Amino acid sequence: DRPPEAPDRRVDSVCPWCGVGCLLTYELKGERILRVQGRPDGPANRGRLCVKGRFGQDYVRHPGRLTRPLIRRKDAPKTLPVDFDPGAPLRYFREADWEEALDRAADGLLRIRDRHGPRALAGFGSAKGSNEEAYLFQKLVRTGFGSNNVDHCTRLCHASSVAALMEGLGSGAVSNPVSDVAHCELILVIGANPTVNHPVAATFMKNAARAGKHLVVMDPRRTELAREADRFLQFRPDTDVALLNAMMHTIIEEGLTDEGFIAERTEGFEALRDRVMADYSPEAMAPVCGIPARTIREVARQYARSRSMIFWGMGVSQHVHGTDNARCLIALALMTGNLGREGTGLHPLRGQNNVQGASDAGLIPMFYPNYAPVGDPDTRRWFERFWGVAALDPEPGLTVVEVVDAIHAGGVRGMYILGENPAMSDPDLNHAREALARLDHLVVQDIFLTETAAFADVVLPASAFPEKSGSFTNTDRRVQIGRQALDPPGDARQDWWLIQAIARRMGLDWQYDGVAAVFEEMRRAMPAIRGITWTRLQREDSVTYPCDTEADPGQPVLFRDRFPRGRGRFVPAPFSRADELPDQAYPWVLITGRQLEHWHTGAMTRRSRVLDALEPAPTVCLHPEDLAALGASPGEAVTLHSRRGRLTAYARADDGLQRGEVFLPFAYVEAAANLLTNAALDPWGKIPEFKFCAVRISAGGQV
Ligand code: SF4
Repeated sequence: DRPPEAPDRRVDSVCPWCGVGCLLTYELKGERILRVQGRPDGPANRGRLCVKGRFGQDYVRHPGRLTRPLIRRKDAPKTLPVDFDPGAPLRYFREADWEEALDRAADGLLRIRDRHGPRALAGFGSAKGSNEEAYLFQKLVRTGFGSNNVDHCTRLCHASSVAALMEGLGSGAVSNPVSDVAHCELILVIGANPTVNHPVAATFMKNAARAGKHLVVMDPRRTELAREADRFLQFRPDTDVALLNAMMHTIIEEGLTDEGFIAERTEGFEALRDRVMADYSPEAMAPVCGIPARTIREVARQYARSRSMIFWGMGVSQHVHGTDNARCLIALALMTGNLGREGTGLHPLRGQNNVQGASDAGLIPMFYPNYAPVGDPDTRRWFERFWGVAALDPEPGLTVVEVVDAIHAGGVRGMYILGENPAMSDPDLNHAREALARLDHLVVQDIFLTETAAFADVVLPASAFPEKSGSFTNTDRRVQIGRQALDPPGDARQDWWLIQAIARRMGLDWQYDGVAAVFEEMRRAMPAIRGITWTRLQREDSVTYPCDTEADPGQPVLFRDRFPRGRGRFVPAPFSRADELPDQAYPWVLITGRQLEHWHTGAMTRRSRVLDALEPAPTVCLHPEDLAALGASPGEAVTLHSRRGRLTAYARADDGLQRGEVFLPFAYVEAAANLLTNAALDPWGKIPEFKFCAVRISAGGQV
């Protein structure tokens, strides 16, 4: 009956979790977050928050927060203990002061660079960090390490979507914001589970469906959003290209293409048309994808005749043919003229809260900031002058999984990892963890002693989201300001300060006095955000790019008159199968993904009291009849084996799955899903096939 505690101040900021980018207000008392409120003026949330945004911020004060720099003890084994406890201290380290830790961190990197060359070093930044941190980190790798070996978790989520969008349109960003569902007639959601992964965005979709918009959901697993849909197509895993090509076949055959749009704004249609008409009739593809030909035709007609938007997620991108999947979606939009207007477009739903901004800022191995290609000599010279360095590496760097392979091959010997957790997030974890253990020198900057930090030589304690200011770019291309609400604990430091401290020790004369100075430098390198000043961000909180001048309100809808590459390009996508198909030894299809309550590798959400109480243990979802056939009941342990590893988790019945499919979240170290996954890559996006590998299952085991 006690009245709620009154805050002594309020600080406006952004949610740290997903790419929806909800604006929120921290209600604070001293150094405690009492409550979190959604802001009614938040353009992406209009006052709403999901369970993570509202109740998941207590990770900030978890007792496991790193408060002192750590240096590895000489006798500590380079392994992840089998009983690794995310909440307990690890006796592999001794505490150090900042001078010793930073000197040790930088000296190890310099020694490797000078002895083995610039490409013997690599850096993983983070889509959880701000735009300014991403910019500084990639600048450090390019000008201090001396190569383009810099990447982050975009490689594990939408790299294939971006590859297809850059190739087809010349821009990797979304064309229209989520809120445009209010202006469309049909919403097509494929390979995405927004109710779980983008919960507030899902509310916009649900409201649109209830207001009479057509909602079509396509997914191998029936998601909660499918309940709101007037059409749900549960196709066989891995057959997106067959299904989408069959839709295109119908649209072309029945004369539903937008001939004017194709003639004026696109190229390559004839080659795609010939391929699709020869090989992909709905009747031929129906047995492949498991959807009746009549249904494929009806949905294709409905999409082509409507003002339609497409949303997609990891179910599209995380395949060895993820780029082909996205090429099909782009072709569908181009051939029906569903681009360049309100209520149309292509929207790959971004995962992390700043995966869009980190990629924009150049935290990827093939592009400088603003997607300027590292292989272009004029562009390279411009950045050499801008950054004041004699020569930048002309070769694109290694991607996330390629770095792991290069460590095994002896090519990469030292790493600086900021806020990423490859010891949980990479495919084929035994292989990835062995690589981390082989490094001559590993510097990890994080807020907790993560599974990756367990392999570090030096650990630098950093700041949690509410402990620093910075800008973050959401899935709609809105650049939004996050404001510091709390002080970091103990000796923990701001991430930008730590990157600069390492840079100075590596010989770079950096003199930034805060994130505002970094952002102002970014504006000069990134035409897309030229009209967004730091002062304007502080005043307006959220500005959409492209934004040319300070008077420009920003452009929520892209491609009205032209595409950045000129004409939109059709690229035919041949149907191909997953890298590892089920067989007698491994007869099940494993699909990995996320849960509403846990975020990615669980580094923060498993340290949130409320979120961990809601989902405290690893579970594996199976169809109830499959579960019964295994002789197991919900809540009992089942053991999964793949060719790469094994784990045990508690069974959960899920009749949204098809027989033979099994779904496993990847947030739990005690049953790390990526022990099982396949590291095979999409050849264009270099993204691993997290959404499909073969496993076998048996009842029993010890979680
Ligand atoms: Fe945060 Fe995403 Fe939830 Fe919004 S939808 S509150 S951004 S996790």
